[in-house]
Amino acid sequence: MLIVKKFGGSSVANKERIFNVARRCIEEYRSGKDVVVVLSAMGDTTDELIAMAEDINPRAKKREMDMLLTTGEQVSAALMAMAMQALDVPAVSLNAFQVMMHSTSRYGNARFKRVETERILHELDSRKIVIVTGFQGVNKYDDVTTLGRGGSDTTAVALAAALHADRCEIYTDVDGVFTADPRVVKNARKLDEVTYDEMLELASLGAKVLHNRSVEMAKKYNVELVVRSSLNYSEGTVVREGADMEKLLVTGVAADKNTARISAIGVLDKPGIAFNIFDTLAKNNINVDIILQSVGREGTKDISFTVAGDDMEHAIEILEKNKKRLTIKEVSCNPNVAKLSVVGAGMMSNPGVAAKMFEALYNSRVNINMISTSEIRITVLVDEKDIDKAMNAVHDGFAMGE
Ligand code: ASP
Ligand code: MG
Repeated sequence: MLIVKKFGGSSVANKERIFNVARRCIEEYRSGKDVVVVLSAMGDTTDELIAMAEDINPRAKKREMDMLLTTGEQVSAALMAMAMQALDVPAVSLNAFQVMMHSTSRYGNARFKRVETERILHELDSRKIVIVTGFQGVNKYDDVTTLGRGGSDTTAVALAAALHADRCEIYTDVDGVFTADPRVVKNARKLDEVTYDEMLELASLGAKVLHNRSVEMAKKYNVELVVRSSLNYSEGTVVREGADMEKLLVTGVAADKNTARISAIGVLDKPGIAFNIFDTLAKNNINVDIILQSVGREGTKDISFTVAGDDMEHAIEILEKNKKRLTIKEVSCNPNVAKLSVVGAGMMSNPGVAAKMFEALYNSRVNINMISTSEIRITVLVDEKDIDKAMNAVHDGFAMGE
């Protein structure tokens, strides 16, 4: 039996926690299993390294950034091997180069292409615990790359898939995936299970427990994930395909405050205008989320859409620059909005979920600015000041805490 265990930065933040993780892994090892451990950098190391780089050169090349950031994971992996050795257990730490975790060349946001297993299997064969640096890859130029913030989860899943592991456990400082952010919603409850699709929606909606791409990859290779705490032995949340699961109408509610609304007012009401607007934004790498178009009047209409908060200035700049060609009379914006979403695989087969959500919002007098839906998600745009109230109202409206 082979298990991949991934521990986040807070789980290895200091000596005491490193030994805590070491002991947990050793228990598993002593019960006869093969254990592969994936680690993040200790505590806030990655943030501190980024700050150091900014201090030296705010326009540092991405290649050098990756050279710098990958050191964080190498520190925790080496220290973990030393801790296990101090407890008289054979362990070996390996970086992405030693394992050969091949990635695309894109520094700062690389993706795995292929992961070799020979070295790891060889070390496991000699009954060692194998510790692998998370978050990093090696590209075709033999340079180290990083996978984007939070990428260690993806390293764990990639290894679990390549090694055909029996389990992939993601250890963090919370007990699992919750129906809502427990810091905001008092009645939030830990979920026993979620489907990959629900987790993907929740992850991209700002429930930051798992790196989005780790869930995509787990789904693709059918790797069963467990999200659980490194600080206690409670069971955590299982993420897997939902066939035999009891599909809850609504599984969770998530909020995303990093959102802004932009409106292009008075554009010509004729074919090709929407295409031109969104094509122009896309070519400038701006991701658009919810789109709303007003009914035309006197040959013109308004098109509103949301973008990530950090993209707002750039998006406005682009629209202003192309105002004439895009037939826009005026561009307006509102940064003080937030997205609220409910997610649930059971929505597919049950009508009335949207109505129920809107009712809960109405009951607490929260106004809805925009609406968008997918098969298993309903998202509304509300004023940012209302978001906590709205989240509680919707959570309790669906009795998610029970
Ligand atoms: N240390 C990296 C980060 O902070 C990767 C990770 O923790 O998953 O983003
Ligand atoms: Mg993380």
